Amino acid sequence: MLYFGDCRLNTPNMLDQRIQIIQGDITRLDVAAIVNAANPGLLGGGGVDGAIHRAAGPELRAFNKTLGGCKTGEAKISPGFRLPAEFVISTVGPVWKGGNSNEAGLLGQCYYNSLKLASAHNITSIAFPAISTGVYGFPFRQACEIALSSSNQFLVQNDNIQKVLMVSFSEADFNTYLGIYTQVNSR
Ligand code: ADP
Repeated sequence: MLYFGDCRLNTPNMLDQRIQIIQGDITRLDVAAIVNAANPGLLGGGGVDGAIHRAAGPELRAFNKTLGGCKTGEAKISPGFRLPAEFVISTVGPVWKGGNSNEAGLLGQCYYNSLKLASAHNITSIAFPAISTGVYGFPFRQACEIALSSSNQFLVQNDNIQKVLMVSFSEADFNTYLGIYTQVNSR
């Protein structure tokens, strides 16, 4: 998986305009799909995972029991139940182990595979939290670069998806994310 340090993107100087950086609670967003930073069992947990399960209602956990879990870097789809979003796409980010365990590649796959699954379900708008940057411990700045490059790499070859929102919960994270977006866009 490539990221910006490699400078090998198809559009190295400009991110796809469909990518936007926003601040907020992902469970409140009126988009076709929100992505959950889930754990492999897909049955709920802490952080954004807990917030999504609370907002979707117990039906999400019951549905996810039928999915057989999810491997790191892969993605599974569920209905949104009580969420404004029509679908939840669950992906399992890598746990940060110091950087030499293919964490970057696996995180890139989370974004790429989530977008691929969304497109296959004719989803046109999708919102991502900053996967792996909470309890999984991935360094935030590097995670943002990977999120942007991997999503951009998908979008250059896809016309179905119209809007990709990168959602930060805190104002500090939002400012960091926006700074990286601006920096990457002006390279
Ligand atoms: P992981 O286990 O993948 O690290 P976490 O849920 O611990 O997942 O954190 C992932 C990111 O989600 C963190 O940056 C955290 O601040 C953010 N987050 C937590 N709750 C929400 C929410 N309601 N909406 C958007 N982002 C959230």
